[in-house]
Amino acid sequence: MKYPEIKNFIDGKFTSSEGKKLDVTCPLNGEVISNVPLSTITDLDKAITAAKKAFPLWSGLTSKKRAEVLFSYRAILKKNLNELAEIIHYENGKNISDATAEVEKSIELTEFACSVPQIISGDIMKVSEGVTCRTEYTPLGVVASITPFNFPNMVPHWTIPNAIALGNCMILKPSEVVPVTAVRIAEMLKEAGLPDGVFNIVNGGKEIVEAICDHPDIKAISFVGSTDVAKIVYKRSTSNLKRSLTLGSAKNHLIVLSDANPDLSATDITASFTGTAGQRCMAASVLIAVGKTDHILEKIIINSRKIKPGLNLGPIISKKAREKIINYINKAENAGATILLDGRKTEIDSSADKAGFYLGPTILDYTNAKTPIPLEEVFGPVMEIIRVDTLDEAINIQKRSRYGNASSVFTQSGGVAEEVAKKVNVGMVGINIGVPVPREPFSFGGWNDSKFGVGDITGKSSIEFWTQLKKITGKWSKQEKQDWMS
Ligand code: NAD
Repeated sequence: MKYPEIKNFIDGKFTSSEGKKLDVTCPLNGEVISNVPLSTITDLDKAITAAKKAFPLWSGLTSKKRAEVLFSYRAILKKNLNELAEIIHYENGKNISDATAEVEKSIELTEFACSVPQIISGDIMKVSEGVTCRTEYTPLGVVASITPFNFPNMVPHWTIPNAIALGNCMILKPSEVVPVTAVRIAEMLKEAGLPDGVFNIVNGGKEIVEAICDHPDIKAISFVGSTDVAKIVYKRSTSNLKRSLTLGSAKNHLIVLSDANPDLSATDITASFTGTAGQRCMAASVLIAVGKTDHILEKIIINSRKIKPGLNLGPIISKKAREKIINYINKAENAGATILLDGRKTEIDSSADKAGFYLGPTILDYTNAKTPIPLEEVFGPVMEIIRVDTLDEAINIQKRSRYGNASSVFTQSGGVAEEVAKKVNVGMVGINIGVPVPREPFSFGGWNDSKFGVGDITGKSSIEFWTQLKKITGKWSKQEKQDWMS
């Protein structure tokens, strides 16, 4: 499968860039499937000019009129679900089932944006006799969204539908590793009737992200990616006095107790660390086994053996990323971790291309390791087991993580579950759930080094992020007496 060379999308048209081109590689077979421009400041300026031109008309519409475009867009997403899943499969490598789930999530996120007119109906208060104050959510202007490789469709939908439904005009900077999906997003938004200039794409990498952070006409930036870059983007954009919300890396701890339902827990834990080949910020990374849990751990290993690279497990995004994960496993092994399941040796299914960047599920047991507890994000289908005697020890290990996206507990005891939920230092907690992200509406966001900025990226708190409140206080009564401060 090959795709045409990627262009920017500016003012409703696909536009070439003068910037250098980068190959886009398919992780399923290592073949170049397209190329993407490293856009220049001139490209960004053009996109911002288009967005500024479109803003008065778009923001001047009623929210219900804007939502009509999102309703049509949702139908188009649904109609093209299979085609979109296929694009994600080719450019990111994830299984068709994972890719389909990602598009389904995008549809739900769009549904939330369709309900914006109801959510932002605002407050009217009779503040004094004859005096009322009403609040209105007003858009910010031109805003930007910078996205990572691991969810080419869903993560852009964390921001695009809400930001535009609320009246903003957006510049999307997709991951240069997976730029094809964004092309279809632009085409579908246009088909849905979105006016030219409201949504624009400027492709590229580090330099264009820095230019976005510096541009005086961009009012707010949302970023999703690794913590190192999230910090750079947060510091740079806020020092330029922009509103900023940047989501970073993760290392999620799952705590399993001996009373947990063995089959359900094993299924969920296996799916959590192997889904999307472990390349998701909500993936299980460390499993803390409290007490006698061998009967559950054995089932996890049995389940994981059924996950075969190329059959029901997609590849790692790049050769380099796979090498990094293998180095991590080698290092753990050298430090004394026992390899309970070795993905380095797993055979690739005969239906898959051997040149794909595959790595099998790997389970490391740190019980006898002469190494400190694992702290780094691995971002692959690797789970590290730590065995402890008490729940307190388990919670304390979680709390030593610098990240704070998610943590889950597997138990049949409500009291234990509530204790874990209360004490773990994360934004999203799962109880007998390996990936604690429910159906929309949901307020997605971690804590600590997994997020910089106030509020969450989806759900109601994103409404606050993409708008500013106008407070209008009026007095129409004829009475002269004022019983308020003036
Ligand atoms: P990344 O940080 O390498 O890239 C993210 C974006 O930043 C891309 O658009 C890229 O072009 C840009 N970028 C890369 N280096 C840059 C630099 N030095 N300066 C400015 N911009 C730069 O992340 P990735 O590899 O695409 O994605 C994987 C990471 O994203 C993982 O760490 C994962 O945990 C994280 N992630 C987090 C969440 C979350 O919700 N917290 C969700 C998805 C992914």
